[in-house]
Amino acid sequence: MLYIFGGLECDLDMHVLDDDDVPIEGLYVAGNSMGRRFLVEKPVVVAGLSLATATSFGRLAGANAAKGV
Ligand SMILES: Cc1cc2nc3c(=O)[nH]c(=O)nc-3n(C[C@H](O)[C@H](O)[C@H](O)COP(=O)(O)OP(=O)(O)OC[C@H]3O[C@@H](n4cnc5c(N)ncnc54)[C@H](O)[C@@H]3O)c2cc1C
Repeated sequence: MLYIFGGLECDLDMHVLDDDDVPIEGLYVAGNSMGRRFLVEKPVVVAGLSLATATSFGRLAGANAAKGV
């Protein structure tokens, strides 16, 4: 995919949030599935934005999952 509108919302540790904004233990998100990036429309065109987002937050999510944070 290029990107999605909406997506799964998360906290700063990349935990997916439930409907009450409570982190779901053991569930992480990164990349195209992350919410609030392009909620309504794609606001700007920046070279590498989506790939950099996927790799940066993917690394963070993976590290937190490995540490059980
Ligand atoms: C044509 C095109 C051009 C693009 N150009 C740019 C660009 O110039 N710059 C930029 O920054 N971004 C660009 N993007 C967007 C960028 O490629 C994506 O935002 C980025 O790859 C998202 O990374 P991701 O890891 O979230 O998802 P993906 O790269 O889609 O990775 C998801 C992976 O999960 C695997 N998978 C799916 N289901 C399962 C399952 N059930 N079990 C196991 N594995 C599964 C898939 O096979 C895939 O390997 C482009 C996208 C497209 C389609």
